[in-house]
Amino acid sequence: MITYELGNNLYINLTNRCTNKCSFCVKEYSDGIGGQNLWIESEPTAEEIIKEIGDPSRYKEVVFCGFGEPVLRLEQILEVSRHLKKNYRSRIRINTNGQGNLVYGRNIVPLFEGLIDVISVSLNAKNAEDYQRLCKSSYGEEAFYGVIEFIKECKQYIPEVVVTVVDVIPPEDIEMCRTIAGELGVGFKVRHFYNV
Ligand code: SF4
Repeated sequence: MITYELGNNLYINLTNRCTNKCSFCVKEYSDGIGGQNLWIESEPTAEEIIKEIGDPSRYKEVVFCGFGEPVLRLEQILEVSRHLKKNYRSRIRINTNGQGNLVYGRNIVPLFEGLIDVISVSLNAKNAEDYQRLCKSSYGEEAFYGVIEFIKECKQYIPEVVVTVVDVIPPEDIEMCRTIAGELGVGFKVRHFYNV
């Protein structure tokens, strides 16, 4: 399934691939979200996504997520977002693991300026060692530092930046992540396990 509704939002499932293998990932436990199977046989083109979305005016937000890491489909995010902004002035969010600049080897965040209204970045841990233990990034412990730098860049180009943790980590770690978010000057949200 490429698109699905949750609450007042429309979610776009761009890929099943990811640079992490988080122990709490919903992919490890389920075939989808809200009873919808999100395993896809082939990744949708921008044209296919635009066609399936149709007129999104009734939604509060259009959210690029995945049953995987959406920024791995950067070109499709940009093309679909340009279409949605130009034709519908949609409010657009990306939910990401924040490793986009590591993936592309350059700063991709300026590309989001004027297109993406909100970005939700999974911080997940208070330090690089914990992050790697929990998320098993293909970039090793460098991933955590890459995520922090990505968040700083997002602040420059995206109106609303929120970092998240899942409540599988100890409460004191959650508080340390809240402090990191405060120092970075971005929003903070605790997500519930199974409710990611
Ligand atoms: S970053 Fe997200 S999609 Fe990727 S493994 Fe972790 S929870 Fe799953």
